[in-house]
Amino acid sequence: MTHHFEHNCEVLVVGTGPAGLVAALAMAQAGMATVAVGPAIDPARDTRTTALFTGSVALLKNLGLGALLCPAMVPMTGLRLIDDTGGIWRAPEVLFRAGELGLTEFGINIDNAALNTALLAAAHAQDGLQLVEGTVGSDFQSDDKGVTVKLGSGDTISARLIVGADGRGSLCRREAGIEASTSPYPQSAVATRFHHTRPHDGISSEFHRPAGPLTTVPLTGLESSLVWVETPEEARRLMALDEPAFIHALDHRLQGLLGAVTSIGPRASFPLTRMTADRLGARRIALIGEAAHVIPPIGAQGLNLGLRDIATLVELVTRARSLGADIGGDAILKAYDTERRGDVATRATMVDTLNRSLISDFLPLHLVRGAGLHALNTIPWLRRLVMREGLHPSGRMPALMRT
Ligand SMILES: Cc1cc2nc3c(=O)[nH]c(=O)nc-3n(C[C@H](O)[C@H](O)[C@H](O)COP(=O)(O)OP(=O)(O)OC[C@H]3O[C@@H](n4cnc5c(N)ncnc54)[C@H](O)[C@@H]3O)c2cc1C
Repeated sequence: MTHHFEHNCEVLVVGTGPAGLVAALAMAQAGMATVAVGPAIDPARDTRTTALFTGSVALLKNLGLGALLCPAMVPMTGLRLIDDTGGIWRAPEVLFRAGELGLTEFGINIDNAALNTALLAAAHAQDGLQLVEGTVGSDFQSDDKGVTVKLGSGDTISARLIVGADGRGSLCRREAGIEASTSPYPQSAVATRFHHTRPHDGISSEFHRPAGPLTTVPLTGLESSLVWVETPEEARRLMALDEPAFIHALDHRLQGLLGAVTSIGPRASFPLTRMTADRLGARRIALIGEAAHVIPPIGAQGLNLGLRDIATLVELVTRARSLGADIGGDAILKAYDTERRGDVATRATMVDTLNRSLISDFLPLHLVRGAGLHALNTIPWLRRLVMREGLHPSGRMPALMRT
């Protein structure tokens, strides 16, 4: 007879992607008996990089990950916006410097492989956190005491709160009975990295093109990462090109900004979609990261938003626990939804507006965007406001994100 384990914990994190692992570390460090479940992953398989803003970097450091992560963090000291729409009215180039806000950097860029490897190592070493390799199955059982899930192995886990970090196709979202509105964009992103002959000077550049933005983000030395948004047909064509032909196409697009492109890394393509869950929690399940919201890879918002979910949720749960309240109860889930809803909606709308203003054929939209860029070059307070808002939403900063 096979023997099945029954785990009991306070917080169960479903999904061990970046959001799930950070949530599990944060919950365990806040004193919650935590279990995290996810299938085995090879962190080195993800060849992308992630740009993280200052609040996200502070959160990772506050979780004690500085020593593991700092060597892999490449500072981002400037952001450049370039109008490459070829319209009749070309908007001016805008260059923001972190120094204008009295900061040394806007944030950092990090290899996903380095990030995921460090998170996994830290999670294995974390007291109060148990990592379980496996997949959670459907049909969660919940009542006023807790919620119980069954793994593919037949083991069961009971918790007071589930943190749903199981990505865009989230089972947790379905089990919570939460609907989501999804809208695909007629675009795909090609992500890769490349070497070039001119230094990037720590500046991330965003070319605004009719098919969508093309963004370069600094890596160590003469290397940058690339997210290139195109129509799905063009993305397929770019994916199929051999290396010299892809380098040629990229050289043409970058117009010599980083000198000549000398080599490229592995390419991966991602269809662009937008998804927002109607609510961020129900039935003892709180949704974080892409289980709660998917935003196209424009303006580096995705994981930054997910980390803000975590900082907020941990704060609410810690407070409830210290008051002897139910950490998975409706009051917490409602408060979490209220605190996060505005930020999620603002970011999704911001990215959507920029994206649509590019792909639209509607001239007034281009004029507004052009006028906006022009104003950003000439109105100092507006520049500072946009820079600050781009880094972190106005309003209260959760404790875990403070330096
Ligand atoms: C090209 C590209 C570039 C990007 N660049 C940036 C950037 O510069 N900055 C930024 O902030 N964001 C960026 N993002 C967004 C960022 O990558 C995502 O926000 C992030 O990866 C989402 O992490 P997650 O942990 O929420 O989800 P995922 O990484 O999808 O993790 C979900 C995990 O849950 C597991 N899972 C699923 N179902 C179950 C189950 N039933 N039981 C157990 N486990 C389960 C899965 O196996 C997976 O490991 C980018 C995205 C793309 C596509």
